[in-house]
Amino acid sequence: MAPVKMKSAGAPDKIVAMQSPGEEMSSFDDVRQHHIDVCISRKTFFDNIVYLRQLVAPSKLCVVMKSNAYGHGLAPLAPVAVAAGADYIGVCTNPEAAAIRKLGIDVPVFRLRMALPMELEEGVCRLGIEEEIGALEQAAFLSGLSQRIGRDVPVHLNIDTGMGRSGFFVEDEQTIRRACSLPGLRIAGVFTHFPTADSSNLQGTQRSMELFEQCCLSLRDVLPPDVLMHTHNSAATVRLIDRRHHMVRAGAACFGVRTSQDFTNPEELKPVMSIKTWVAQVRDVPAGKTIGYGGLFTTQRPSRIASLPIGFGEGYPRALFNKGIVLIHGQRCPVVGRVSLNIVTVDVTDLKTPVNWGDEAVLVGRQGNEEITFEFLADLFASVHTEINLMFGSMNPQIRYE
Ligand SMILES: *Cc1c(COP(=O)(O)O)cnc(C)c1O
Repeated sequence: MAPVKMKSAGAPDKIVAMQSPGEEMSSFDDVRQHHIDVCISRKTFFDNIVYLRQLVAPSKLCVVMKSNAYGHGLAPLAPVAVAAGADYIGVCTNPEAAAIRKLGIDVPVFRLRMALPMELEEGVCRLGIEEEIGALEQAAFLSGLSQRIGRDVPVHLNIDTGMGRSGFFVEDEQTIRRACSLPGLRIAGVFTHFPTADSSNLQGTQRSMELFEQCCLSLRDVLPPDVLMHTHNSAATVRLIDRRHHMVRAGAACFGVRTSQDFTNPEELKPVMSIKTWVAQVRDVPAGKTIGYGGLFTTQRPSRIASLPIGFGEGYPRALFNKGIVLIHGQRCPVVGRVSLNIVTVDVTDLKTPVNWGDEAVLVGRQGNEEITFEFLADLFASVHTEINLMFGSMNPQIRYE
């Protein structure tokens, strides 16, 4: 580890300087980076995409990179996605699309939600986003825009087959036809999104698929022959090997995680993010002592307790109190007591080897023969991997890309 640069504390002008951008701020970031290591493997991301591409071929692959690539960092990873052969990149916001264009990337960008009226002009004209439509109002707006700019606007019809959030109701063929008949719209795609593709029961997904396919069939006189039909998210992509249609939209799978414990990913898909820290102190604690805020854990025996210099301020979920597991010396150590803002305490009493100040502690990832996954942690508090990826990714200014 590189030596930690410390600031002289106290003087008010120093404190102001630390909040403004520039040299002072980067020194602050330097201080933060040495106590937690959030590591993103570009190679693993690349390999996952290459694997998914050959899995779904001849279907295309839309690599979903919304929410700053699920907390992994959009700008550092977008060129990797393109190099690995992404046919489309999926985003939600204009700034995400702008970041991609700024890198000189010209693959099609698809917005995975309905745009707001004030997002559309910039989104379509300047950023070249392919928008979804799910209402006549939006179709009319884009049709008007196309008249003004003098060229057709590509759109994807969002067909609601059960998700219930947005789009045209699958039964409402009349409205879909009216939208398609407006001048200036090029129907580039028609798609649906499954609500339960990650659950143990796939019947709802099969039903959505049938509704979607029937809908496309009865609309075939208005759909251009080269229209992209796309339905599958990550879970559907790895589980439903038939009818992947012309493209799949995968986020989680590209980052090597899965959205529930109800299925297993192919072993070729590996997690892109891993997180570790180091032991800040080890103490022998007698039986009958409480640990942490609220006194919610009491030692039942003479115990060895290690404290780690991270907490929910670094993205370690507060909900993991008395539940989380951390790897030290390749062995599983339970989190005991509350997770503080910047400290977590773990029980290392049962470890076969003595733990020392500065020893490595893996929060997510592999150590020896053991592994802690995002899915495992998410399941401990009924969350999903995305939330944990996002917390670690967005709360730590220094992410290490290798
Ligand atoms: C987020 C999203 C996806 C990707 O979901 P994953 O489960 O991460 O693969 C696909 N399609 C739509 C419409 C989405 O919003």
